[in-house]
Amino acid sequence: PQPLLPDSGRPGGLRGVRHIIAVSSCKGGVGKSTVSVNLAYTLAQMGAKVGIFDADVYGPSLPLMVSPEKAILEMNPETKAGAGQACSRGSGECGAGGVLGVAWQVAAAAVIWPAGCQATSGKGAAIMRGPMVSGLIQQMLTTTDWGELDYLVVDFPPGTGDIQLTMCQTVSFSAAVVVTTPQKLAFVDVAKGIRMFAKLLVPCVAVVENMAFFEVDGVRHHPFGQGSGDRIQRDFGLPNLVRFPIVPDLSAAGDGGRPLVVSQPTCPTAAAFMELGAAV
Ligand code: ADP
Repeated sequence: PQPLLPDSGRPGGLRGVRHIIAVSSCKGGVGKSTVSVNLAYTLAQMGAKVGIFDADVYGPSLPLMVSPEKAILEMNPETKAGAGQACSRGSGECGAGGVLGVAWQVAAAAVIWPAGCQATSGKGAAIMRGPMVSGLIQQMLTTTDWGELDYLVVDFPPGTGDIQLTMCQTVSFSAAVVVTTPQKLAFVDVAKGIRMFAKLLVPCVAVVENMAFFEVDGVRHHPFGQGSGDRIQRDFGLPNLVRFPIVPDLSAAGDGGRPLVVSQPTCPTAAAFMELGAAV
């Protein structure tokens, strides 16, 4: 049987990619994809060449958030034969036109389905067993031509299961960012995620407490409580804790295919993303 965790050393990297960053959460709906996309664009605004990989096969968000219908997806003629041998390379509209001065490579699992998978043109449900998903992700990550990148931001599926393990055993991640919300309930799950990365020798450089508060007339309200992020940072000795408020514009920007850090680069939330960018 395969060992659960690698017993020695770290896997290799991806050709042309300097740093691979995992953005992970232990529950769905906490804002992991929102953070992934805005972090990627922030790194681009900081002058880096950035790619983003949506590994959240069951709930892919990138197709909506970075308007890939405007991206050019090309099949690699060397690898397109056979089920699941898909490679993609695209230039997202948000990064083009000198807005960020960066070329985007978007490999969105939602738009590429292997033969034999019960889905219809990317519009059906992703009905795949775990090993199929792991195989698909592994293949897309390693066979996509990413070009020369400073950072590849990988939007992980939520949880600490087979898919996450496979990815960490396939390529060497430079850093992990764990996204959570402030509820006490989230603490146990976040701890699991941080421990998983520690066991896989991936340094967890930041915890993001998303939806931490909202402001009305200058007064902060904390609908999900407070203190969880501080406790996580203290208990695990994490170097950075970054808080994002509940901001309707953040959600609207994601739905509109133009991330907030691009549409409102001087807003306070964009400044918090700069803080996160500096952490990775
Ligand atoms: P996940 O990837 O963890 O499933 P998403 O990034 O898809 O979560 O976010 C879930 C929903 O919450 C989306 O509609 C997103 O626009 C919204 N959202 C995420 N973070 C915030 C925030 N800080 N303020 C307002 N809406 C948010």
